[in-house]
Amino acid sequence: MMLSIVSKMTGLIYYKSEHMDRYAKERERMCKEQLVNRGISDKKVLDVMLKVPRHNFVTEENLIRAYGDMALEIDCDQTISQPYMVAIMTELLELKETDRVLEIGTGSGYQAAVLSELAKEVYTIERIEHLAKGAMEKFEQAGKTNIFVKVSDGTLGLADYAPYDKIIITAAAPAVPPPLIEQLSSDGGILVAPVGDRYSHKIVKLRKIGNKTEETHHLQCIFVPLIGAYGFNP
Ligand code: SAM
Repeated sequence: MMLSIVSKMTGLIYYKSEHMDRYAKERERMCKEQLVNRGISDKKVLDVMLKVPRHNFVTEENLIRAYGDMALEIDCDQTISQPYMVAIMTELLELKETDRVLEIGTGSGYQAAVLSELAKEVYTIERIEHLAKGAMEKFEQAGKTNIFVKVSDGTLGLADYAPYDKIIITAAAPAVPPPLIEQLSSDGGILVAPVGDRYSHKIVKLRKIGNKTEETHHLQCIFVPLIGAYGFNP
């Protein structure tokens, strides 16, 4: 009897480690084929993409596609972004370990988990309570203590904890919401966001020095809409 319990347990441990190996290999392939081959070169970003378990942030039906080259549906008709999009937006933020970051659009929590490995604190806002709760549970399970989740309209930012060194919007905005520009550090703060019309947008990087901002435009992309006071209508 004892023996069978031991062998069952051993079987379970083996099964788990086999699984972990498979996902680690998938992450390695994802980094090489989807990120390095497309020009992601920041070693710190690549190391984090190698480390953070994207499969923990997708739905059960999508486990098999967790490391695929695509955005995937999560609950409430929302999406977890494509790995390449997460990597390039993270690279554009030029994160430092002392940075305080504001993310608009928590979604699955994957982007926040990536940011939390490279910055001091991450404040993340989600308008859908169900998604915010799901992400919080994942952060707790992973022992994350530097991510703070709030349910509200992220287009208004989170003035109580401003200014932020970096701000990232992970839903498509018609224009960068003015409250977010106000809450960005004037000492070289960087904001990265998809900006454009509802179905076609470009990644914009905005740098704020004093009360001046300079903007650069990057790749074309498709995101779900930012809904709110300074976003699109529902
Ligand atoms: N960063 C997410 C991840 O890693 O899974 C992906 C975000 S998903 C592409 C966009 C998210 O933005 C959705 O969860 C959506 O509910 C949220 N969203 C849209 N408008 C918002 C707003 N005004 N404030 C906060 N969240 C918003």
